Amino acid sequence: MRDIGKVNHTLEILDRFKLQAKKSFGQNFLVDLNIIRNIVECAHIKENTCVVEIGPGIGGLTEYIARSAKKVIAYDIDERLIAVLADSLSEYPNVEVRLQDFLTVDLQALAEEVKGYDHFIIISNLPYYITSELLTKIMISPIKLDCFVGMMQKEVALKLTSKEKSPLRLLMDCVGEVKYEFTVTANVFIPKPNVDSAVISVSFKEMNKENLADFYHFLQACFKQRRKTIYNNLSQAAQDKDKLKDILKTCNIDPKLRAEQLSLDQFKELYDLI
Ligand code: SAM
Repeated sequence: MRDIGKVNHTLEILDRFKLQAKKSFGQNFLVDLNIIRNIVECAHIKENTCVVEIGPGIGGLTEYIARSAKKVIAYDIDERLIAVLADSLSEYPNVEVRLQDFLTVDLQALAEEVKGYDHFIIISNLPYYITSELLTKIMISPIKLDCFVGMMQKEVALKLTSKEKSPLRLLMDCVGEVKYEFTVTANVFIPKPNVDSAVISVSFKEMNKENLADFYHFLQACFKQRRKTIYNNLSQAAQDKDKLKDILKTCNIDPKLRAEQLSLDQFKELYDLI
């Protein structure tokens, strides 16, 4: 079927397969072709690109990705969708659907699998119940990715693109350029969620990503108790507290500052010395 994301097409598919959206899997299907097109445009898909989609649902967004990308690998956790997608996306031989919880996907093995493509992109209308977990998994992964485009709750998108510092926000700044793309009203989903959504993108830099997971854990330790000073948070794990004081001094960081008052460069400098 063409244009799965049209309201009447989505309703027809849901009816034909006697499918009820599962709240526990964060299922809200997009039914606005303009929004679908806009999401795909944010990814700037070039020739010979492989796109991984997390949570294709019944395929509304997948279809438009498949029209631009050489290959689409779509992971969904809901086994009921396999038969639906085999039917709805039958015109798109470049789509491969995999039944797997994306949180359990080995990204390094996946990156190895798609290394024959010139570009590698992840796109998702994210299941809201695991947004931060999925984002963290993608951001700390040492794989070479060009870009990530994701839809999430508007509040979360605003937070991740604001000046407010958090371990995840700093991690995203560290690996690439984060952008708030556009807001999406709750009316363009079936079923309609309680909150508005928004799309963000991350364009990744070329960098050495070897220690990212460790750096993220360090950031989490710095922000462990937001009201406490950087010294207090880090001294909880530090064996040698005098050495910690010296390191802070070397980095010109006042031990009385709170983590949110430090810049990304200061975190990096501190991490390298600790
Ligand atoms: N992409 C579709 C769209 O835009 O209409 C559906 C998006 S819906 C918000 C989220 C999708 O993610 C659902 O299809 C759901 O089954 C799937 N999902 C939920 N948890 C998942 C997980 N851990 N791994 C992979 N897919 C998951």
